[in-house]
Amino acid sequence: MSLRVHLLWLLGLVALGFWGQPNRVDWPDLAEQSVLWLPFILVFLTGFISLFLNRFQPIAVIVTLCAYYALSWAVLPQRVAGAQLLLPLLALSLPVHLMVWRLLPEKGFHHLGWVVLQAVLWWLPFVLILWGMMSLPAPGWGWVFWPVPTEWIHVPWSGLALSVMVLLLWLAWMAFSRHTQVLDLAMPVVLVMAVLAMNAFGQPTTLAWWVSLALLAVLLAVVFEAHHLAYTDTLTGLKGRRALFESFAGLGRRYAIAMMDIDHFKQFNDRYGHETGDRVLQVVARHLKQSGIGRVYRYGGEEFTLVFPGQSAAASQPALDALRERIASTPLLVVDPKTGEEKPVSLTASFGVAERDARQANPEAVMQAADAFLYQAKKAGRNRVKGPGSPRKKPAARKRTPKITRPGKTTRPGKK
Ligand code: GH3
Ligand code: MG
Ligand code: MG
Repeated sequence: MSLRVHLLWLLGLVALGFWGQPNRVDWPDLAEQSVLWLPFILVFLTGFISLFLNRFQPIAVIVTLCAYYALSWAVLPQRVAGAQLLLPLLALSLPVHLMVWRLLPEKGFHHLGWVVLQAVLWWLPFVLILWGMMSLPAPGWGWVFWPVPTEWIHVPWSGLALSVMVLLLWLAWMAFSRHTQVLDLAMPVVLVMAVLAMNAFGQPTTLAWWVSLALLAVLLAVVFEAHHLAYTDTLTGLKGRRALFESFAGLGRRYAIAMMDIDHFKQFNDRYGHETGDRVLQVVARHLKQSGIGRVYRYGGEEFTLVFPGQSAAASQPALDALRERIASTPLLVVDPKTGEEKPVSLTASFGVAERDARQANPEAVMQAADAFLYQAKKAGRNRVKGPGSPRKKPAARKRTPKITRPGKTTRPGKK
């Protein structure tokens, strides 16, 4: 799913929030009572899934949200000393407290020292809030808590202004970040919902409603991120083999499949090191994405698959040749381990393409045929595209290719 789709469901949650807001719609009594506990159930659920996925950040975010909720819900009716300062202080603290977790590096739960340090730091804002409730407003500080002069905004101007500032900074950070994840996209929405919850301070059901939706946004973001990881190759950002085989179901009766393999990649790795090899794979993946042809997947290792729904092999060949040319004509800057100097090196790739016909009637068989053409391309000198129209008779099956099978069955020997 693209980030645009994720934005849609997040906005859908906001719309749902306004539509079902308990202070606007008449809720049954049972629902009003239950929603007060919903945040705790969602925290448990999200926490369990995040723990399972070794993700610390979502847990920090939801525990923070829930702590602010518990404070607003449980402390206010107690009428403790300084309770009238609770909302202004929470409003000042929450936006920073919430976003800080997403900015700290995610180290999962394996780095115990880091987890303990964050758990200790987590209390700091609450200590400050407690201190503030006992000793504020100090003379001259009252202006910080001035209300906004409208009847539908209850969050003091300072908390509101800080939230807007954090929101804008976050959006700016996302605009420049090259690795925006679903949780990053969810965070501004979570913050807006948290502000809406604080705005309903003193109306427990509405407060719980908005907190629950914010928690739901985090939960869904965590689930979608896990789904993304399962289908995407981490190194190149391309879809992986699982996505490729699942896409076969909707291919229809006319399609072509191309297999692409980087030439002499082992030598490249041996000469310049695996790290440079990885960078090469990323550069090639970028060429594939930017070429805009077919659906692109990393099959494994230095092999990529391109699927052309509704196209013949002959029709896809010019585009593949242009891609081949583009890769071959773009030199790569690498550090020569002998001299330690940067130098441009050229890189080439070979392609085999085949289409569905009477002999190969399913996608696996078409891939098999494309692989055989790829072998021809290698044998003919590499850096070329071979397909059914290429001048040669029936392609010989590659010896090293026993059979292309779906994941979970046999994989090719020596392949990742
Ligand atoms: P050919 O032109 O015949 O394709 O030769 P080749 O050297 O490219 O092919 P071969 O299959 O012998 O080698 C593929 C190499 O790709 C072996 C392995 O070291 C490398 N490789 C596979 N996956 C990765 C990866 O994720 N990162 C890096 N750096 N190298 C990888
Ligand atoms: Mg290979
Ligand atoms: Mg190769």
